[in-house]
Amino acid sequence: MQRVLRPRHEHDAMIDLASNDYLGLSRHPEVIDGAIEAVRAWGAGSTGSRLVTGDTDAHQQLEQELAAFTGAATGLVFATGYAANLGAVTALSDRDTLVVSDRTNHASLVDACRLSRARTEIVAHRDLDAMRDALEERDEERALLVTDSVFSADGDLAPLRAMHAICRATDAVLIADEAHGVGVRGDGGRGLLQECGLAGEPDVIITLTLSKALGSQGGMVLADEKVRDHLINTARSFIFDTGLAPASVGAARAALRVLRREPERATAVLDHARALAAAADVTEIPESAVVSVVLGDAATAVAAAERCAALGVRVGCFRPPSVPAGTSRLRLTARADLTTHEIDTVVEVLRAVLGENR
Ligand code: PMP
Repeated sequence: MQRVLRPRHEHDAMIDLASNDYLGLSRHPEVIDGAIEAVRAWGAGSTGSRLVTGDTDAHQQLEQELAAFTGAATGLVFATGYAANLGAVTALSDRDTLVVSDRTNHASLVDACRLSRARTEIVAHRDLDAMRDALEERDEERALLVTDSVFSADGDLAPLRAMHAICRATDAVLIADEAHGVGVRGDGGRGLLQECGLAGEPDVIITLTLSKALGSQGGMVLADEKVRDHLINTARSFIFDTGLAPASVGAARAALRVLRREPERATAVLDHARALAAAADVTEIPESAVVSVVLGDAATAVAAAERCAALGVRVGCFRPPSVPAGTSRLRLTARADLTTHEIDTVVEVLRAVLGENR
């Protein structure tokens, strides 16, 4: 554990560009009330697997609400986004399945591939030809193409429409992890799959976390009814895991209500990401909340992150094994609720620190 989280008041003075609280909802009063009300109604813990005692009406309502919001048919709540990825990939694959996976996919998808026991082909980042070749040339009957929709380290986007076309042509299923997409991309934060017109397609499965834009904790798989039933019966990370805590369910439902009412939060986060990128002299226009400032070796990146902290701005610092050697970086995450004053301060700090390190 690199950093001990202190009570809120002690780090109030720090401007946070390191968390995944993209829409500023984790401390929103309505979201906090949602958690408290759920605890009062259902208790502090969910008390068991959702198949035994850990299920509530609230879990099922959240599933319906999030499915309706993103344009999917149905949803299934997991205890984390990590567990959702493990469940979706392992339950939909076996030894007669090929899984094709982008090299920069999140660790939870990587682990899901390993646990699946299916043959996995890792392809270069966003390499559509390699994806098509692997899927076309397979001997296995079934195939999955798995990807982050918004990649977690760089914040760039998967070419989802082209990937889906490849899946259609090769009879494969697309599994896309919207951890960094929901709340940021799509109409009012409905996600990149919605933006690409792919949500609700029968051969598209969406996974996501409730712990980033929705400011809570937990995970979800969005798919059709048949896949949902199959996951309930076979996904080990669903069956053998305690159901999501009521507080997290209540908070996520409240966050979704706020986002529906205030869709401008999704546009604000992208506007703020652009301001951060400009301040850090990053030439690519950010496509998500994540702005990646590659500095090279790990020591340089750590020193820059410490300098930012000393000047009152908390930034993420990604080093190997999270990113390849020589590409250590600051990872800045924009938030919808940054004030103009905070952005001005950040611009000053980034210019000063990066000027020293470049
Ligand atoms: N997928 C991606 C792309 C992520 O960035 C994360 C969280 N870092 C996860 C899955 C895991 O989600 P959770 O933290 O809810 O387990």
